[in-house]
Amino acid sequence: MKPLTEQEIRASFVNCTKGEAKRLSVPHDLADRPWDDLDFFGWRDPQAPDRGYLVAPLADGLRGAALRSTHAPSGQNRRSLCRLCLTAHTGGVSLMVAPKAGKAGKQGDSVGAYICSDLACSLYVRGKKDAGMGSRLPETLTLEEKIERTLGNLTAFFAKITA
Ligand SMILES: [Zn+2]
Repeated sequence: MKPLTEQEIRASFVNCTKGEAKRLSVPHDLADRPWDDLDFFGWRDPQAPDRGYLVAPLADGLRGAALRSTHAPSGQNRRSLCRLCLTAHTGGVSLMVAPKAGKAGKQGDSVGAYICSDLACSLYVRGKKDAGMGSRLPETLTLEEKIERTLGNLTAFFAKITA
């Protein structure tokens, strides 16, 4: 994806207020991120470990979502599947909850999905990051098809957030 600026990132959020988008912590090392290998930009807030963010260049523009991960101390030894990139992790997948956009979100509506805890789906798909033995299901898709699938899953996730 194209490298993002802090301004673009802050302007992309669909499910938080302008004030929240202004205050949330955007990484300072944007220039050093492996943009060529990213299909979306995801990060965890180092100051608030239960918070995560992802920003994706979707067909209708740049879309960002603020997420909260739930602590799941059980199942650390159980393998679970990221719903975006379909990488199987042992203990490396979190239930991320995104408040819905607009009025529904203010009333407490949210959308949850199991997502790689480090939000590094793009790197797992490309084999640049390893989630351990058996983390990739045997499949015949090409890398491009897997990337497309990840983006398709992301589009569906955002559609639920903004529905
Ligand atoms: Zn993933």
